[in-house]
Amino acid sequence: MQERRCALVTGGSRGIGRAIAVRLAREGYDIGFCSRSADEAALETSRLVAAEGAAVHHSVCDVTDLAAVRGFVAEAEEKLGPPHAVVSSAGVLRDRPMALMSAEDWRTVVGTSLDGAFHLSRAVLRGMLTRRAGALVNVSSVIGVYGNAGQSNYAAAKAGLNGLTRALAKEVAPQGIRVNAVAPGFIETDMLRDMSDAARKTALGKVAMGRFGSAESVAALVAFLLSDSADYITGQVVRIDGGIAL
Ligand code: NDP
Repeated sequence: MQERRCALVTGGSRGIGRAIAVRLAREGYDIGFCSRSADEAALETSRLVAAEGAAVHHSVCDVTDLAAVRGFVAEAEEKLGPPHAVVSSAGVLRDRPMALMSAEDWRTVVGTSLDGAFHLSRAVLRGMLTRRAGALVNVSSVIGVYGNAGQSNYAAAKAGLNGLTRALAKEVAPQGIRVNAVAPGFIETDMLRDMSDAARKTALGKVAMGRFGSAESVAALVAFLLSDSADYITGQVVRIDGGIAL
């Protein structure tokens, strides 16, 4: 039997991050995950992961803070061993037309998605380079590919994340480490909770498959990209969007 390996997921308490944590647990990983809050949602993720027979560790950690992310990685590694699969999923929205966007709206969104992925990569890569093994996946968005009115902060963060993914993939490929991103379209999570009925209708009109996606579908793609079945895939931004045209 293959030895259990450790996977780390930021933003694992809800939505896509939780689905990834549970899916990776089902595939034999022990799971370290973080979120800003130690709330009922984080406890529920821990329960769901444990129900898959995996060991689980949760850290309260704001990914905008490099020291906090280093702390999360160190705690998880102490409990679960060195990370083999690493997923940056923490992300937030602060939608606003640029003319009204505050510096805080900008910093919060870029700080979470883009700085957060830099912090996580920075915290895990030295160990991975030494071990010459591992894979990273960054959860990006189709908005980083197409842009979207009212989301210049989010589009910039996710486009930046796509660039980081491609550049880092080239940098660490010689050491056998793979780096990819997934770019989901509209996925039913808390993130879409505040969408008006009119906005939902407009959004659905742009999806060829005529429905929003599930966090579990994104998790299945992430799990594939982290697996040995994807051992010749790196530097890719893989869209999972039901056939969207923005
Ligand atoms: P949710 O709002 O459902 O979950 C967000 C998760 O991120 C929570 O666990 C939250 O925990 C955590 N989080 C937010 N900010 C931070 C932070 N600063 N530090 C640590 N954790 C943080 O979002 P989704 O699951 O929908 O989104 C997950 C990822 O998928 C994001 O990167 C998002 O941009 C991307 N995405 C989502 C799409 C969608 O339609 N839902 C489409 C395309 C991409 P807590 O509340 O405790 O901080």
